[in-house]
This record gives sequence, structure tokens and C-alpha cells, in this order.
Amino acid sequence: MGNHGDTVDEALLTTILPGVHVAANHQLGSIDQGRPGPTVVVSGGMHGNEPAGVLAILRILNTLATTNAPVAGHLLGLCGNVGALRLGVRYTDRDLNRHWDAASVAQLRATHGHTAEDVEQLEILHAFDDAVAHARGPIVHLDLHSMSADGVPFIVVCEHPQSVQLAHDLCLPGIVGLEKAIPATTIEYFTTLGHIALAVEGGQHHAESTVDTLESVAWLLLAAVGAISWATVPDLQGRRDRLRQRGLNVPPVKVTYRHGIAPQDHFRMKPGYRNLQAVHAGEVLAEDDRGPVRAPESGWILLPLYQPVGTDGFFIGSAALG
Ligand SMILES: [Zn+2]
Repeated sequence: MGNHGDTVDEALLTTILPGVHVAANHQLGSIDQGRPGPTVVVSGGMHGNEPAGVLAILRILNTLATTNAPVAGHLLGLCGNVGALRLGVRYTDRDLNRHWDAASVAQLRATHGHTAEDVEQLEILHAFDDAVAHARGPIVHLDLHSMSADGVPFIVVCEHPQSVQLAHDLCLPGIVGLEKAIPATTIEYFTTLGHIALAVEGGQHHAESTVDTLESVAWLLLAAVGAISWATVPDLQGRRDRLRQRGLNVPPVKVTYRHGIAPQDHFRMKPGYRNLQAVHAGEVLAEDDRGPVRAPESGWILLPLYQPVGTDGFFIGSAALG
């Protein structure tokens, strides 16, 4: 029994993230009390300008350590792009959440790569490997993210049959097909191995509610997979109420369109779009060097890009059912 790893002071992380020590294996904390149960890997900060997920993980680890609550299986909290988090940028050389397909992973393992993110990914891979190798039950990965635009938070659902049910338990809209529209994320890595993987877009990067949303989703997931009892979740009803309120009861949405961009496009999103806002076919959503960029179909806009770096201008989804 024991809680290993470095204890990171949350206030310190909030104010001077560059000074935080994260272990070389990216571990924020690990709880394994020797009981049977699932292995739950929760990661945050895969994008270095998204510290909210790291804070959410630290809050949960601190609460579980303080209350000494029983935990079944193994809970592992990981910090994603440590170098980029220190700089407060999305990434240094390339997006850390885009090279997780089997071919890229195999190549990285063979060559060790050369970019800053290759090093980060190899270290995280070793942490994943270790958690998977020692698993005594099902393996679930939850990746915590935040967005440049304001708007409705949501869960990115994978194809695993249990994934949709789990997303339902997490009290936010579930988005189907985003893992196909954005290939080679950690979701693809875990689902290729046959495990369950979910990602959360918890809200705008630096909003306080984003940390609460991400923390709440992770608590609910831990209970939903049986790592902790529902009674262990602090303020369970309040968390569910807040998530449902922030999710605006948007139904499950299936992604039907991705607007990919390149730097030479000089893509500029029109101001004011919120995540999961309804849009109509033909509506001018953005401009680039070729002129106006229109919605090719009606639906809900997802992840409109309001930061200078990125390869996805926006996505459009429609109701997943019916
Ligand atoms: Zn992200």
C-alpha cells in the first residue's frame, strides 16, 4: 500500500508552473493499494498551454491521499508535455497528441526520434507500458484537455462498446467520431491495444470552471469503472449538476466534417463562436487567404480555433442518433 511519486503543491503549480518538479517518468502521483481492480491512467497537459488537466489530477491525488480512501486497482496520474507546460505553449516542435498511431509509435521506439516532443512521447510511452504491464484488470485512459474557445465542454468517445456508456455516466455530451477526425491521438494508441480511452475538452484554457469540470469528470470516471466507490466522490451530486448544466443537455454528436488548415492559409476564425454552437450551411465561419470559409453543412461547430497554432480550423457535427 502506498502513494508514491512526487507531491506537487497545487498553489505552486498555479502560480509558477515552470518551477514544478515532475518526475522523469511524467508521474504526478500513483495510488496502488494492492487491491484487484482496473488500471486508470489519467493524463493532463498533453498540450502545454492546457495546465487545467494537471491541476485537476493533483486535486484528486491530494484528496485521495488526505482521506486515505480505498482505491481498487491502480490509479496513475501523468503530466503530458512537461517542456511545453513550463513554457506555457501548446508544443515546442510538434503536437504531442498526434503521433500515437501504431506505425509512428513503432518508429519512435526504434529510432528514439529527435524532437523535443519525441523525447516527451517516449517517456510517456514507458509510463504507459509500465502501467499496462502491471495491470490486474481492465485498462482505461482518460486524457484531460481544454480549449481556446469558450463553450460547451464534452467527452471524446472511442469505438469501444463500453465507451459510450461511460461517457453517459460522465454527465457531459459525448462526441462520436472525433477520434477519427483527429487521428493518432492517445485514444488511438489505447484503443488499438483493446483498451478504453476517453478524452475531455473541459472548457476554456484558463477558466476556473475548466479545472472543476476536468476534476469532476475524472472523479465520476473513477467511480464508474469501480476504482473508487461513489461515496468516495466529494460533492457527487454537485459535480453531476454542474456538469449537466455546463453540457447544456446537448445530445450525443457525431463528427461529420473537419476543416484542416496549414500555416500558409492564414486562417482566421470569425470572432464569437462557442464550442457546440449551432451553425447553418453556407454561414461564413472564418476567412483565409482564399476568402471566406463557409460551413459546408448545418450542425454544431466543434473546437473553433482561436489560437495561432493548430492544424484543425474547426469541426462540424450532427446529432449522433436519429
Ligand atoms: Zn488539448
